[in-house]
Amino acid sequence: MSEQHSFQAETQQLLNILIHSLYTEKEIFLRELISNASDALNRLQFEMLTNDDVVDPQADLEIHIELDEEAKTLTVSDTGIGMNRDEIIAGLGTIAKSGAKAFIEAMADKPEDAAAIIGQFGVGFYSAFMVAKQVDVISRSFRPEDQAVKWSATGGTNYTLETAAKDVRGTEVVIHLKDDEEEFTRGFRIKDIIRRHSDYVAFPIYVEDDEEPTNKQQAIWRRAPSEVEDEEYDSFYKMLTMDFAGASHHIHMRADVPMQFYALLFVPAGGQRNMFSPRSEAGLKLYARKVLIEEYNRDLLPEYLSFVQGLVDSEDLPLSVTRESIQATRVMASLKKTITRRVLSELKRMAKNDREKYLKIYQEFGAYLKQGLVIESDDRGDLEPLLFFQTTLDDDPSAFHTLDEYVERMSENQDDIYYVVADDYASGSRSPHLDAFRQRGIEVLYFTQPVDAMLPMGLVDFKERKLVSVDSAELDLAEVGAAAEADEPAKDALEADSFGALTERVKATLGGRVSDVRASKTLVGSPARLVSQDESSNRYMFRINRLLDQEYELPVKALELNPRHPLMHNLSGLIAAGGADDLVDAVAEQVFETALLQDGIHPDPSSMADRLTLLMQAATESAGAELDFAEAKTVIGEPAAAETPQIDLGDLDLGDATVPDDL
Ligand code: ADP
Repeated sequence: MSEQHSFQAETQQLLNILIHSLYTEKEIFLRELISNASDALNRLQFEMLTNDDVVDPQADLEIHIELDEEAKTLTVSDTGIGMNRDEIIAGLGTIAKSGAKAFIEAMADKPEDAAAIIGQFGVGFYSAFMVAKQVDVISRSFRPEDQAVKWSATGGTNYTLETAAKDVRGTEVVIHLKDDEEEFTRGFRIKDIIRRHSDYVAFPIYVEDDEEPTNKQQAIWRRAPSEVEDEEYDSFYKMLTMDFAGASHHIHMRADVPMQFYALLFVPAGGQRNMFSPRSEAGLKLYARKVLIEEYNRDLLPEYLSFVQGLVDSEDLPLSVTRESIQATRVMASLKKTITRRVLSELKRMAKNDREKYLKIYQEFGAYLKQGLVIESDDRGDLEPLLFFQTTLDDDPSAFHTLDEYVERMSENQDDIYYVVADDYASGSRSPHLDAFRQRGIEVLYFTQPVDAMLPMGLVDFKERKLVSVDSAELDLAEVGAAAEADEPAKDALEADSFGALTERVKATLGGRVSDVRASKTLVGSPARLVSQDESSNRYMFRINRLLDQEYELPVKALELNPRHPLMHNLSGLIAAGGADDLVDAVAEQVFETALLQDGIHPDPSSMADRLTLLMQAATESAGAELDFAEAKTVIGEPAAAETPQIDLGDLDLGDATVPDDL
């Protein structure tokens, strides 16, 4: 008695795409079916570790392929775990993988792209419909009490189910080939496909009556690294991950003492996990003596190395373990230690000897390593040499420097390592905090990645040198480095009295938004900066929260004013003359908000537009004629000049100032 079932809507869509696909590499359907058979054998093997009450306990774990030129069929059968009625409905009637849904959604928009991207996508079982006009699946589950079932579909909206007479354990997939797909009934063609796509499947694959399996079965990771070709690593990686960007580095480990294990690890070339990746989660595949124990094991590497892909095959893990108990074994702890050390030392060596290659990896995954430094403080010593930063040394955003290099170049009398936190390189390089550092030739690290705001929590010091933020209130550089022949200061410093009146007035305007207003000892070309009294290592946490769209409060900082800056002179003059209260308020507000903007922490830059318009209006009314416009260069979108900024109208560069920081 056969019953009709309809496919889930997404499955129908997927089938429809596959049936009409013009994809030229249709042969991959065989790889997918063999891979399913191999999974089923793996699962049976795992089951039998703890349960011998299965159908056909003595049956060999094998995959067979039968070809019938006359009937135009190809049959893939395995002695794996099998499926009962419910499992076949769940497995072959619905799509569980989120990647499949993403694929269908992409296809709904642009069906013409199917041929191009189908290959990157683990289409699995359904790929058979690229070559089949009908597929029958006859399966007998390993459970003695289960009935064998037959599933059959022609690619329409329905499939049929009926009970079947199959005594032997496992699954048989019968492909009734479309008329123009006869090539897949030829033995030599099939064997060629197997050798190219499925050579290292761990179970023997027999084609027709051959006595010898077609595949070598030698797990690539159990071979000697010297005998494995780069292309083999490459195709293995792609098969494992479906990440067709490839891997930028592989690590092949074989160890005998004190533990015997094999590991094959890859650093992906691209940072983004492929949306179609069959490896939807982070984690390594874990085998115990070639038996797959866990698909995604996250106990073999620390979280901060979770970008690493690959597998570990241990000879020492007890085979009777359940998935839950593996984690607790001593073997796992030592495996983790050994593998982690190896990955880190390998990265360290690369950072030293092949900087270009390393920096590509760092560009993609540096954020993970920095996170590791904050979270796993035990590994700090290993992670520090892996950090690279842009610095003010060359003001070249493409040049990266290590902490060691920084320390070696430190200026005379310099004890601390200085860094500037900013939203990006360009705004960092324009920071008013850098005035004094530039003038005294002191190098500063740029902390411009989002995760960098967390870095001071883990990287409190390096080689006994404290890391100090350039906006620290306590900063005194008088003894550090050597002051360059100062550019002729634009003006003398304001008299103490006038400056006192100025700070009082600004304080009154800004109220609780600043903790203090005072004179700066370090500013050269900039009128003002905000300094932080908070020396705790989580002083930048608000940046992280802001990034995560979580509630955050702007820290209240002290505003330092530059007593030599012409703007402060003008402002002081206005205050002394009395009147013009609105203008003084507006300037004080704008000085404060510009400082926020320069630190990348202005919560709403566009709110300044109206005030800026009024200020320009005021400037053009009174002083416009006296300003030297020839000197005012407006450069939009170019990185700031390396030298100390000149004071000219260019500093009032509105084109830059109003660009919201997420552009
Ligand atoms: P995937 O294998 O990526 O999960 P598929 O569409 O290829 O996706 O297969 C769907 C499900 O059908 C599998 O997860 C598995 O549970 C079941 N299945 C497919 N082929 C077999 C087989 N030969 N033996 C047992 N179960 C199978």
